[in-house]
Amino acid sequence: MAHTLVPNLRPALAERVRYYHELGIYDFYLRPLQSPRLVEAVLPEEPSASSLSAPLPRSQSDFREEMAIRKSSAAPATGKVSIFESVTPNSEQSVADPVVALSLIRQDLGDCTRCKLHQQGRKQIVFGVGNPHAELMFVGEGPGADEDAQGEPFVGRAGQLLNNMIKAMGLRREDVYIANIVKCRPPGNRTPERDECETCSPFLMRQIATIKPKAIVALGAVAAKNLLALNAPMSELRGRWYDFKPAGSDPSWPGSRLAVTYHPAFLLRDPRQKGEAWKDLQMVMKYLGIEAPKKAAEEPPR
Ligand code: SF4
Repeated sequence: MAHTLVPNLRPALAERVRYYHELGIYDFYLRPLQSPRLVEAVLPEEPSASSLSAPLPRSQSDFREEMAIRKSSAAPATGKVSIFESVTPNSEQSVADPVVALSLIRQDLGDCTRCKLHQQGRKQIVFGVGNPHAELMFVGEGPGADEDAQGEPFVGRAGQLLNNMIKAMGLRREDVYIANIVKCRPPGNRTPERDECETCSPFLMRQIATIKPKAIVALGAVAAKNLLALNAPMSELRGRWYDFKPAGSDPSWPGSRLAVTYHPAFLLRDPRQKGEAWKDLQMVMKYLGIEAPKKAAEEPPR
């Protein structure tokens, strides 16, 4: 069997390698091609129509589905792409001032068309807002209608509640940095899809590596699962710390600690969970050495 890559697989692999690098995985090895099933899935010689439509074993089906997702997220193919050529230092890495570094990341993002969200009704890219020297960063899922209109994350009703949560912690919105996994509004406020998250989140990783917060709070399951690459329910994700450091960050920076809590939009739908969210925030405050104003220390944010 000839070991050639199907044409669209090369950019898809480049995307995959970039994604693994964001997760801090650098070492790859070539598995001996002992499994005919895997060989056929990855290196089809001349796939026939019948072989593509035939029912596949589970692992093979999954692989095809994954590659289909990757293809939809990849930038338009412009000829041959080395799967390692995208691993170049980012423009902001030699810049000490986080204000300048963040503006370089924003410049790099440009009028982004890297994923399909760019053509699904977004008004503008919602990059992130707040203190470039923040010790605390909040990461949500993606912009909603208000955020899309104003170009700033968490400005609608959920944003108001987040502001109250921040205030209850004894902080101001200007003290923290707020961003999302995806920077363009998914149509109808749907959950961002996996390929969209994977395409957009490297920019968030660069923002985190620039700001170097002591703590990150992932707001909701989508943010948590994307940041941690863990597929677990909120009940398992909350209530503990995770070490978090984007690949390629300053080696002298020890990294952040990441906690998970409910998304403010969820808390608006189910206010009974505010007490649980307040416990999560108190854990963060303890770590950061923040004392809450007395009233807030006794009550969850409204
Ligand atoms: S969501 Fe992110 S990757 Fe997708 S188009 Fe917007 S900025 Fe680009």
